Amino acid sequence: MPGLDVGAFRSVLSVDPVARLADVQGMTTYEDLVAATLPYGLMPTVVPQLKTITLGGAVTGLGIESTSFRNGLPHEAVREVEVLTGAGQIVLATPDGPHADLFRAFPNSYGTLGYALRLVIELEPVKPYVHLRHLRFGDVAGLTETLGTILADRAYGGEPVDFLDGTVFDADEAYLTLGSWADTAPSTSDYTGQRIYYRSIQSRREDFLTVHDYLWRWDTDWFWCSRAFGAQNPRIRRLWPKRWLRSDVYWKLIHLEDRYHVAARIDRRRGRPEQERVVQDVEIPLGRTADFLAWFLREVPIRPFWLCPVRLRTGNHAGEPPWPLYPLRPGEDYVNVGFWSTVPVAPGARDGDANRRIEDAVATHSGHKSLYSDAYYPEDRFWSLYGGAAYRDAKRRYDPDGRLLDLYAKAVKRR
Ligand SMILES: Cc1cc2nc3c(=O)[nH]c(=O)nc-3n(C[C@H](O)[C@H](O)[C@H](O)COP(=O)(O)OP(=O)(O)OC[C@H]3O[C@@H](n4cnc5c(N)ncnc54)[C@H](O)[C@@H]3O)c2cc1C
Repeated sequence: MPGLDVGAFRSVLSVDPVARLADVQGMTTYEDLVAATLPYGLMPTVVPQLKTITLGGAVTGLGIESTSFRNGLPHEAVREVEVLTGAGQIVLATPDGPHADLFRAFPNSYGTLGYALRLVIELEPVKPYVHLRHLRFGDVAGLTETLGTILADRAYGGEPVDFLDGTVFDADEAYLTLGSWADTAPSTSDYTGQRIYYRSIQSRREDFLTVHDYLWRWDTDWFWCSRAFGAQNPRIRRLWPKRWLRSDVYWKLIHLEDRYHVAARIDRRRGRPEQERVVQDVEIPLGRTADFLAWFLREVPIRPFWLCPVRLRTGNHAGEPPWPLYPLRPGEDYVNVGFWSTVPVAPGARDGDANRRIEDAVATHSGHKSLYSDAYYPEDRFWSLYGGAAYRDAKRRYDPDGRLLDLYAKAVKRR
């Protein structure tokens, strides 16, 4: 089937500082979007951590960040979206218009209903600096308890909390990082060169970053994933050009490995076990998070991993989940747990078994799993988890001839 290249749709068309709205083409990266809004003292309500994630990608595939506990997910800031549907029409989807069904089914559809060409999104005002506090916990139960209190109070130690995420280094070393807007800063740190942001969480109690550096604090080392490429070795890092300390550079290295399997061949030659890719983000209800984390720490040898609280901004839509393809419950606090690495395939196990066990544990803890990476669900279970009925209706209306892949084929069958 001939493809249609929408790659040219990558500009910010306008920023309205009074209405606090941006009119943006679908393939615009958040790096460009933030660069266009910050001069107006504004930012998107949720800025995914990696600079090259696009607005259309984050809306159709669910991004998340440290403002998600108060702003929900990127698609909840969308006022309208122009979609090129599988049927070849361009429709304007809004919350209450004639294409409201597409508006609601678009998040988590991963481009299988249509492509977002242009979106109008809400922005929020920024201050010049973010004041960070890193709270250390000796166990995850203590961390989730304090997290619950902060989510209820939106403040800690008398200071408002505007940003909130967490890092678990091990069962006895976990942190919540609280960020607060600040008009001034005694000094600011720089983690775009030799110093590494995630290491600072362990060594500092507080910190100040410019808003720009705060938004991109995770990109330089792709959280901690740059260590797989040697970029955290001080000797290599000194030689590594600063402009290449970026998540998209590591991403390209992964593509090269996927193509040529150099590391896998070296591992095999050295007699190391085969590795299974475990790259997942899952949302667990806050009340079940401590249990899930205890299970994860026991069963899955991936450290560190990331935590990010999230609560939908949108209320119930006529008693239905507002976003049927990713049915988080309105009014409920969830914690996104993100882990991105590989684990050894156990003797007698199949590649995929670790991911399957995680899928089961997520279900047991009443959670949801994002679909951007590998998924192994049987088809009937998949549709019961990801809004099968709403998806079928939207697919029938917007892609009746199946020009675009089906969500199951794309997310699970990896077609
Ligand atoms: C390795 C990896 C790391 C990630 N890390 C983070 C993270 O740190 N923070 C975070 O918030 N999220 C993260 N994500 C999730 C990410 O936000 C989603 O996967 C998002 O869909 C990626 O968008 P993209 O612009 O990079 O698109 P791509 O990766 O190019 O595409 C992702 C999917 O979206 C579809 N798509 C892309 N653009 C459009 C459009 N305009 N209209 C309709 N469909 C479209 C594509 O067809 C594809 O199915 C990560 C994903 C991966 C694979």
